[in-house]
Amino acid sequence: MKVNAYAARDAGEKLTSFQFELPKIGSEQVDIKVHYCGVCHSDLSMLNNEWGMTQYPFVPGHEIVGEVVALGNEVKNLKKGDLVGLGWFSSSCMHCHECMDGSHHLCHTSEQTIVGRHGGFADYVRGHWSWAIPLPKGIDMQKAGPLLCGGITVFNPIILAGVKPTDKVGVIGIGGLGHMAIKFLKHWGCEVVAFSSNPSKKEEILAMGANSVVDSTNSTELASIAGSLNFILNTANVTLDWNSYLGVLAPKGKFHTVGAVLEPMAIPAFSLLMGEKSVSGSPLGSPALTRTMLDFCVRHNIYPTVEEYPLEKVNEALTHLDKGKARYRIVLKA
Ligand code: NAP
Ligand code: ZN
Repeated sequence: MKVNAYAARDAGEKLTSFQFELPKIGSEQVDIKVHYCGVCHSDLSMLNNEWGMTQYPFVPGHEIVGEVVALGNEVKNLKKGDLVGLGWFSSSCMHCHECMDGSHHLCHTSEQTIVGRHGGFADYVRGHWSWAIPLPKGIDMQKAGPLLCGGITVFNPIILAGVKPTDKVGVIGIGGLGHMAIKFLKHWGCEVVAFSSNPSKKEEILAMGANSVVDSTNSTELASIAGSLNFILNTANVTLDWNSYLGVLAPKGKFHTVGAVLEPMAIPAFSLLMGEKSVSGSPLGSPALTRTMLDFCVRHNIYPTVEEYPLEKVNEALTHLDKGKARYRIVLKA
């Protein structure tokens, strides 16, 4: 099958039109006609080869929603015409301990949608059936794509950390991931503090459901709420004053990062041990939890706040995100 995509030929270059042939479909694979694809900061980091694993020509896009158009003969749970989503992962081995445990996102030999293969800035994309997540009836297709990466990435830590409705929580960095985290935590029942470096976002952040907004880069403001939060989720990808954030945690509090901070994070032992605090991280979430999250979103009408661009304007969209101007997640219409 011929695929029309947009690819960068080298690190940091503009995307241009790119055609390639998909080989005959494998017995457990699914081909998806892309309807919409979100633009995640990881697409930008991969485009610029910040993580040292990008192969060119590079087709970004891993927040895909669309329609099944072809299936291998071993695929049992899907049929042509089904609406599905495909996120960061496009395959997992299905037999390692983690897969057998339902933690396919921790599979050691998983395939990642934009690593060494082509992603969703295209008219078609292929994946293993396990990661072609059936979308619940009634879902808003225009806004659903970002849930497949950004959404599940911030939903999973809420489950991992055992966040309770009575908890006071914080979210650092109110971009694509962070704004979805605020919406989830609000519906969870929590009191939510947003940590943002951009004062112009304040009113919008409060309208999303945050109870207050604190300057994420101001250590004095952080010190003024010391000892108050049970859980802090970091979605920023830059170095911040992590020790002050540990100070903002209440005893037994948990600090969790999903933001891909490139520099090592300095965590003083004494900031952890006196209050039994902990620090953790995670990638995405399992296929089963992704389905649970999608049901939760449809039930409560939780969607990202999106800006739509046509796929042809992909370079404008990437520049808009790179400049920190996205409010709050860009989606490309294929
Ligand atoms: P994004 O939309 O660009 O949002 C990042 C936010 O971080 C910005 O909106 C900004 O929030 C804050 N920030 C950026 N530069 C800053 C600076 N210099 N100082 C203080 N704050 C700053 O990015 P995203 O798509 O949400 O992705 C966020 C991170 O998560 C990226 O590193 C991405 O690669 C990573 N990610 C990880 C996973 C995973 O599985 N763990 C999955 C998806 C994405 P304010 O304007 O509010 O300050
Ligand atoms: Zn992503």
